[in-house]
Amino acid sequence: MLTRHKLEDFILFLQKNGWDVFGTQKRENLLEVDHLKYPADLKLEKGVPFYSFKRFFIPEKEKLFEYKGHILKAEELAPKKTAILGMNLLDLKSVLLYDQVFEKDPYYQARRRNLLIVGHSLIPDMSQNIFEMTLEEDILEHLSFDIFLAEMSFAKVPAIRTKKAKLINEEKDNGEYAVFTGSLLGQKILNDFGYKDYINIQFSGPVKEGKLDERMIKIQDKLKNKHNQKIWDELGARCIECGKCTIVCPTCFCFRIDDKAGLENSEGERQRCWDSCFYQEFSEVALGHKFLNDTAKRIHFWYYHKFARIPEEFNFMGCVGCGRCAAVCPVGIDIAEVLKNIENS
Ligand code: SF4
Ligand code: SF4
Repeated sequence: MLTRHKLEDFILFLQKNGWDVFGTQKRENLLEVDHLKYPADLKLEKGVPFYSFKRFFIPEKEKLFEYKGHILKAEELAPKKTAILGMNLLDLKSVLLYDQVFEKDPYYQARRRNLLIVGHSLIPDMSQNIFEMTLEEDILEHLSFDIFLAEMSFAKVPAIRTKKAKLINEEKDNGEYAVFTGSLLGQKILNDFGYKDYINIQFSGPVKEGKLDERMIKIQDKLKNKHNQKIWDELGARCIECGKCTIVCPTCFCFRIDDKAGLENSEGERQRCWDSCFYQEFSEVALGHKFLNDTAKRIHFWYYHKFARIPEEFNFMGCVGCGRCAAVCPVGIDIAEVLKNIENS
């Protein structure tokens, strides 16, 4: 059992040992992820932070290499050791997608090796949990994390030791935590800290064997085989292509490549930056042709990618159901409603 006091000692331990520590904190009533200056600032709560944890895995902008004449110099792959505390279950699910998509990307892999992911068990409410994800007993076997804190009352701990009990979802973070590890890194850091009272969980892949999500299959089938243009024309008439939904979405990973050429000496650098399929330039190719040449096509592309192409490739949805996109949309496009319309069409 890890007490809140001990958790704060652990944060100090990380800070003293060279980790750049970030965590969920309250700012003007909003949950945000920021540098943890004081361990007491860490807030483990039911809600999802306004911005997701995406930037720790895929930065908004990163230099890939620089060049001078014919000489290329790759960016050194030595990211700072970074600990992120307070990842809720939905955001932890998005890590499964990053790990698949960027499996062969050396920049991502170097960053990932230097990330310590600390999750927790408080499940967001309905508006931020649109697929009603619950704390099933084997949920941790299908998530990627280093350390996981399960909030629970003292009385329930012996049950969890047998690994038969359900994880308990309490509403506050002032109790004690049952501790789980999901990697050698998590175990090593806890051992170095002098804490051994944890249960190790073996990762069994992102999807439960033989158990594909029925709703995912239904939506995928509708999108692929029963295209309903009316839905997309209506959404296309409302969407103003601001791209906010893609920025806050933890599972939007599309990027563009920018070449920043200097004026002298044939110098420059190549950068990878977040992009949005809602922007008109996203699908533009040489000579100005745009494959997605109206708003209806662009918003359809967004849904089709998340709910048809990603499931086809990885057997899980490209959406964790956090509701951030609906919360920020200036014209009130709500993904939960759109999915119901697709299912009922
Ligand atoms: S599409 Fe919307 S609900 Fe789904 S993961 Fe992205 S922000 Fe969350
Ligand atoms: S936030 Fe809303 S209006 Fe903006 S691009 Fe997304 S769907 Fe369109």
